[in-house]
Amino acid sequence: MTAPTSDSGAAGPGTGKAGGAADTLGQTILVRVTGIDGPGITAGILHILSDAGAEVLDMEQVVVRDRLNLGIFVAVDQERSPLKDLLFFGWQRDIHIDFEVIDNGTVEPQRPRFAVIVIGRTLDAGELGAVADAIASVGANIERIVRLSNYPVISYELIVVGSDLARLRSSLLQASHDYHVDIAIEREGLARRAKRLVVVDMDSTLIRDEVIDLLAAEAGVRDEIAALTSEAMAGDLDFETALRQRVRLLAGLDEETLHRVRDRLRLTPGARTFVRTLKRLGYRVAIVSGGFDLFADYAKDLLGADSAHANRLEIVDGRLSGELEGDIIDGSAKARLLEEIAAADGISLEQAVAIGDGANDIEMLSRAGLGIAFNAKPALAAAADATLQVPYLDAILFVLGLKREDIEAEQLSTSVIPKEWDGAEGPPDSLHDAAG
Ligand SMILES: [Mg+2]
Repeated sequence: MTAPTSDSGAAGPGTGKAGGAADTLGQTILVRVTGIDGPGITAGILHILSDAGAEVLDMEQVVVRDRLNLGIFVAVDQERSPLKDLLFFGWQRDIHIDFEVIDNGTVEPQRPRFAVIVIGRTLDAGELGAVADAIASVGANIERIVRLSNYPVISYELIVVGSDLARLRSSLLQASHDYHVDIAIEREGLARRAKRLVVVDMDSTLIRDEVIDLLAAEAGVRDEIAALTSEAMAGDLDFETALRQRVRLLAGLDEETLHRVRDRLRLTPGARTFVRTLKRLGYRVAIVSGGFDLFADYAKDLLGADSAHANRLEIVDGRLSGELEGDIIDGSAKARLLEEIAAADGISLEQAVAIGDGANDIEMLSRAGLGIAFNAKPALAAAADATLQVPYLDAILFVLGLKREDIEAEQLSTSVIPKEWDGAEGPPDSLHDAAG
């Protein structure tokens, strides 16, 4: 708790000086309450303060395993001090109450606040300590810690005050790298809580496969396609040329084969929970893919997303012609689509989240208010606000600040991920299984 800040209501706007209640009431005190929690403790304390004419300037309470930690910053009238009554109440209820007089005249100007989300398959004290060190080393302070989930990943939200975004980000990035934990950082405030749109890449993000590789295997041109893919990735071939050449190699594949490939696709673990929860919360969810429409549309319908945008395969007489229809969706087109989808619903880019894994997601991630690199190549990770190395798509819900228990209480989780599952092969969350 940062009792003496200017948003506590005790200080005049921007003056850094105490005013109002503290001036007339005389003394500002931090009341700290600890002990086993029970009904009526907070209420009892507030009644005593009220009876003494004290003014509550700031308050924060955390209960961990029935242990109460309550801090109340109050301005009190020294003639009608509530301290004795509080001590008696503490004795009655068997809780510990102490006081600290805080000089309200030394209020600092409001400092920037950030939400830091720490995610790992396991998080031990050493890893959490390293994160805390990284925060302290740039002069920032942890104001509050809340656990968001205990499976399939462990995650905590830390509200951090001070320093600036760039320094905090680089310090945390180092800790994330050294200790193999995922860390997301975002400016705390309304924009963070007002996200309304999620734009998600398909191949290797929403699904575990690269559709073009599956099609290549069916067409018997795996090596040729792989060679074109690596040329494009090395920058020797531009995205559009590489895509058109690869699609030409697929000419002649019939619709039956395309459907067989579609039915074999495997969802990323947690994909169903992820989309369902977002939809329940009122988000727009759009799939934006540099892959192909047939597959993106199928995933959209299966998961209940709002729209899908992908390259359109031309089909003539029930077979791939080897050509694409319409505009090519490359990295720039993905970013443009993000803007168009947001604009169509009157959503600002600040309220948009973009998720992807590849180089052609860089522009889209940079433009969204929150860009998340999901099990991504290093180039994308460097451009993202958050990186996730755990293989569960629903872990992104924690990056958005949701708690596992809230998701479960709403019965939004499809429970496809057993608690004990920890393997690289993944749970049976394919497009085919009926889970959820
Ligand atoms: Mg991808």
